[in-house]
Amino acid sequence: MTLEFAQRISRIPSYPLADGYDLGSGTAMLASNESSFAPSPAVLDAAARALSGANRYPDPSYSALRRALADRYDIPRERIALGNGSCDILLAAGEALLEPGAEVVYAWPAFSVYPHLAAASGARAIEVALDDRARHDLDAIATEVTVATRLVLVCNPNNPTSTALPLERVEAFLERVPRHVCVILDEAYVEFSLTVGDTYASVELLRRWPNLVLLRTFSKAYGLAGLRVGYALCGSESFRAAVDQVRQPFSLNAAAQAAAVEALRHQEEVERRVAHVVAGRAELIDGLRALGLWTADSDANFIWTHLPEQVVEADVTAGLAARGVLVRAGAALGRQGSLRVTVGTDEENGRFLGALGEILGASP
Ligand SMILES: *Cc1c(COP(=O)(O)O)cnc(C)c1O
Repeated sequence: MTLEFAQRISRIPSYPLADGYDLGSGTAMLASNESSFAPSPAVLDAAARALSGANRYPDPSYSALRRALADRYDIPRERIALGNGSCDILLAAGEALLEPGAEVVYAWPAFSVYPHLAAASGARAIEVALDDRARHDLDAIATEVTVATRLVLVCNPNNPTSTALPLERVEAFLERVPRHVCVILDEAYVEFSLTVGDTYASVELLRRWPNLVLLRTFSKAYGLAGLRVGYALCGSESFRAAVDQVRQPFSLNAAAQAAAVEALRHQEEVERRVAHVVAGRAELIDGLRALGLWTADSDANFIWTHLPEQVVEADVTAGLAARGVLVRAGAALGRQGSLRVTVGTDEENGRFLGALGEILGASP
């Protein structure tokens, strides 16, 4: 007997899981846009203290973390949603906003989780091609907004292509979207973006657009991917209430809450790490362009590059893996013949460039 599942199970794409987590520590893990820096001692201490109280449930209102974010971004606590990673909030948004007959619009290639939202809800997904510099085409996206649209996802900077648009462009786009349509600006990499400027600039937009939601995470610049903490700064309380309504009450465990609060207290450390990534990013881009590869201007902690046409992508990723470097192949991300490479330590970046040069030099 085979089990009978809900119809949507046959529609939902499986998230392309990165491998390498069982490899030795010598492998350069440049496939998942994580931070190469371990959490600082103060953050580890805070998490450890929380663990000593693990017989209790975590605070279901996330009071300390909510207060810290409310203070930092000067936004009412009721308009801050917290999640087990920002993906948790993203999926909850799909559940709260979408249903058969509704439409969700986003650029493609963009974050690999977006197609899940339509598949899980039975809504229709409208995928809009990027422009020739691998950036969002906001005009084309605005054109796709119809009476059926409930949600628009804008990934800025965009994963996997690393590009960002200035906020003036985002504002001009918001002007064109009806106020009952939710726009999620996915800012997982905003801390690394020189184009966006700083992490406060987009928060200003919430005052003018109550339908706007800024999706943020502690997984990238804050280096807490393993603890799963994400948040959303919302233009209206109704979004926060709806995503809370469709989820279980304890999304964030106690150690994650404590670590995130502590990490927020060490902004100079976050900035130091971001500056290191930005420097490594420039070197990687220069190195790839010196190899003759088209490489996007990056606003994130990763690089997006196109391989020469005659080269087989899978041969390149296998060659890199054989040399101890894991990256993401474009095939799994929406464009065959590309690589997405996380900025690692200086040694890892050098190893990647050396290995890629060797592989491309050897190929016909
Ligand atoms: C990494 C990432 C996220 C955040 O994932 P978490 O669930 O917070 O770890 C969200 N959006 C994009 C575009 C990402 O790349």
